[in-house]
Order: sequence, then structure tokens, then C-alpha cells
Amino acid sequence: MNKNVKVFAPASVSNVGCGFDILGFAIDGIGDEMILSKNDLNKMIIKPIEGYENLPTEPSKNVAGVAIQALLDDLGSNQGFDIEIKKHIKPGSGIGSSSASAAGAVVAANELLGKPYSRKELVYFAMQGEVAASGDAHADNAAPTVLGGFCIVRAYDPLDVIQIESPKNLWCVVIHPQIEIKTKEARELLSPKVDLKKAIRQWGNVAGLISGLHQSDYNLIGRSLEDHIVEQQRKVLIPEFNNLKQAVLKAGALGCSISGSGPSVFALCEGEDKAKAVSSAMDKVFSKTTIPYFIYVSQVSNNGVRILE
Ligand code: ADP
Repeated sequence: MNKNVKVFAPASVSNVGCGFDILGFAIDGIGDEMILSKNDLNKMIIKPIEGYENLPTEPSKNVAGVAIQALLDDLGSNQGFDIEIKKHIKPGSGIGSSSASAAGAVVAANELLGKPYSRKELVYFAMQGEVAASGDAHADNAAPTVLGGFCIVRAYDPLDVIQIESPKNLWCVVIHPQIEIKTKEARELLSPKVDLKKAIRQWGNVAGLISGLHQSDYNLIGRSLEDHIVEQQRKVLIPEFNNLKQAVLKAGALGCSISGSGPSVFALCEGEDKAKAVSSAMDKVFSKTTIPYFIYVSQVSNNGVRILE
């Protein structure tokens, strides 16, 4: 059995337009790196975190520690781990910064423990880590980060996650303005009531999007990437959202919406050339602002957390 396990934990886009709280996908272009090893101290030690030093290193406050603890509790083990986190995904990014650490942690710990759990079972533990980030054990980032591809969270009680492989030529462009929006705060902005007519359009779009993914029907994916409920309420948090969306659609994206609770915005595209054109369009809009930003162009990852060594 390996003494050290090094993993790459990808970023992810949740909500995906119409799929608020039930849909997400993993992207390969950016992610955290983590190295785990067993220790004999019966406790977790999180080393100073590279990249974003302000994150908590106390295991009960860091999503990585909380997720591993959930796994150990289920297993009835008090195994200790040394945990190194190299963060590349800014916390509060809307591209699953917390999920990446939680998912990477449980996949690596499971590997060191001799794989007592399947990847699908690990989603539950990664999800528990999210409680430390937003107070809520949600799986729409955790599931695709652990499993890869698109993931539908059909139900929580019991957890029922359905994975769909991404169509081969589906590309994603994400712009990440370097401002922080906390999931908790973006959630508080939402009205608890939904208009029935809007809900009906949303159900139609979710069904269309899932069918489009299954059939690799890019046109149907594009038509279905509409959100009539959440985007309107949250877009006020995102600078330049309307201009960005307009420019991206003009450049040929299939669709565009807020990634997670923002501030990141994603666009899906058919093929790399379209994705590059969309990236330039995003760049043109944001280069006129004073807000620093990063743009990632990547295929949708069908892998989820990858074991590097
Ligand atoms: P994101 O969508 O980028 O994950 P969240 O608001 O859901 O953003 O999570 C960020 C919060 O989670 C921050 O308050 C951060 O302090 C907390 N957190 C705890 N551990 C980690 C970690 N290992 N990586 C990222 N965020 C963490």
C-alpha cells in the first residue's frame, strides 16, 4: 500500500443554468493538489495551506478534515493523516473550491485505507465536508468532483446521484472575477417561492438538457441552458453579467449562466475553437473593468478526482 497519495481534485460548475441545486459537472482546467499520508497520532494534521493561507488548518473547520472525519466515523477508525493542500481554486469562487478539497481528501484517504468505499459512496463523505463551508451538506459540486462528468443529485434521503458522461466535444469556458461571494450569502438572496409558470419552463429545460447530454445533441443542450428562476435574482452580485452573457452568446456559446452561486460565470461550447472564441469575448468585456479575473478553457472532465501518484 502507498505511503503517500497525491491527487488532483478538479473545479466544478454547479447549477448549470436550469439545474439549480441538482446538477453539476467537473472541469479539468483547474483544481487543487493534495498529498495525504497516514500518521500514528490518531489525529489529522493539516499543514499550512499553499495558495490561500487564510483558510483554517484546524481539521474540524477545514472541509478536508470534516469530510475525512465523516468517513472515519462511518468506518469506526481513528486513523490519523497528514494533509497537504495546494489550493489553486480561490475560496468563494463559485467553482467548487470547498468541494475540491473535500473530494480530494476522501478519495486520497480511501486509497490509503485500502479502498473500503466505492467512488459513489465517497460522495456522501465529501458532501459532509461542505457543511464546514456553507452550513449545508450539498452534493451538486461534491458529486461531479468525486465522480467526474455531469452529475444529477436526484435525492438526498437516501442520496441518489446519477452520473452522465459528458459528450466528447463539449467544452467549458469559465471566467472567475477575483471577488468573493459566499454561497451562504448568495443563498440568502433567493426568494423561497417559485412561480408555477417559471417552474414548468425550468422542468422542461432540465429534461431537455439531460436528453441533450445523453444524445450528444449540442443544439438541444444550448436550447435547454436557460434558467428562469435563480439567475435573475443572483446576477446583481456579478459585475458585467448582462454584457458578458450577450458577448458570449454572440461568439457562439451554446449557453451561459452563473457558476454555482458566482462570481464565476460559465459557458458551454461545441468544440475547442468555439471555446477559444468565447474566451476572447469574455476577455474583451472584462478587460474594460478594474476587476482582476482569470479565464479557464477546458473540456468537461469525465474523471473527477485523479490519483497522480
Ligand atoms: P466555493 O463555491 O468556492 O466552494 P464556498 O463559499 O462554498 O465557496 O466555500 C468557501 C468557504 O469554505 C470559505 O469560508 C472557506 O473558509 C471555507 N473552507 C474551509 N475549508 C476549505 C478548503 N479546504 N478549501 C476551500 N474553502 C474552505
